[in-house]
Amino acid sequence: MSNGIGNGNPNGSGGASGGSRWFEQPPKPLPTRPQSKGPDKDLWLRCPSCAEILYRPVLAERGQVCPHCGHHFRIEASARVALLADPGSFVVHDDHLGPGDPLEFSDAKPYHKRLIDTQKKLGVLDAFLSGSCTIDGLPVELGVFDFRFMGGSMGSVVGEKVTRVFERATERRCPAIVVSASGGARMQEGILSLMQMAKSCAALAKLRDEAGQPYISVLTDPTTGGVAASFAMLGDLIFAEPNALIGFAGPRVIQQTIGENLPEGFQTSEYLLAHGMVDLIVPRNELRATLAESLRWLVESRPVAVGEAR
Ligand SMILES: [Zn+2]
Repeated sequence: MSNGIGNGNPNGSGGASGGSRWFEQPPKPLPTRPQSKGPDKDLWLRCPSCAEILYRPVLAERGQVCPHCGHHFRIEASARVALLADPGSFVVHDDHLGPGDPLEFSDAKPYHKRLIDTQKKLGVLDAFLSGSCTIDGLPVELGVFDFRFMGGSMGSVVGEKVTRVFERATERRCPAIVVSASGGARMQEGILSLMQMAKSCAALAKLRDEAGQPYISVLTDPTTGGVAASFAMLGDLIFAEPNALIGFAGPRVIQQTIGENLPEGFQTSEYLLAHGMVDLIVPRNELRATLAESLRWLVESRPVAVGEAR
């Protein structure tokens, strides 16, 4: 013990393993523990607004709204329908419609391959879910964008399904609701995607002219491009979720085009409400009740044509 380094042996003469000092002994293997996989990343996520860590099942129970700050996460189309439609009332239409690839378009990946991969991953054929349902007992035609499917882009199938929402509402003489979440027209389908804007708006005009029924547009994050430039901004009432991105082109493109600095947050629900482009900002947990109340008011205050049963 003259060197002042303890060896763990009170006799100071080496251990039982042949007298070698402890630091000369081969390292013993550490006791093994069960391999930890770490936290399951799929179960937790960080709120981009308040940075709180959120448990996904709790978030799902709350309609994908942060319980701490009220941030509205994007929500799947089927979950949106579950939040809005009366339980068991939703009858899906047109879910057999799948997109073609008329231009045989290819960018980083061929369009048809991109479609097949997305369809397999999500289990749906395109970015729009539509059907008939009741909301608080009122019959409506409901359509919901699914942003997960190629950014909710509107190609020929999405446009056709939107059009059919309006056509069915005209036929059934009931209101229509479309909940938008879209990056705009699907450029992989070129002009065929652009013509969906005119087609869907023409069907909407018939809903008003022939059936005299209202259409409520619900704008969610994000509603942009060709969707914002067509039926999404043509609601008899236009609702928006809090803090949703709503606009036609991105800020940089606008800034370069008009050569002026743009106001802060000019493409948010709140800014559009303040400037008269949106009628009401409705938090997700109030959307169903607000839609029901508004529809009742719109339908019951509607003038009735001679000989028409209300
Ligand atoms: Zn939050």
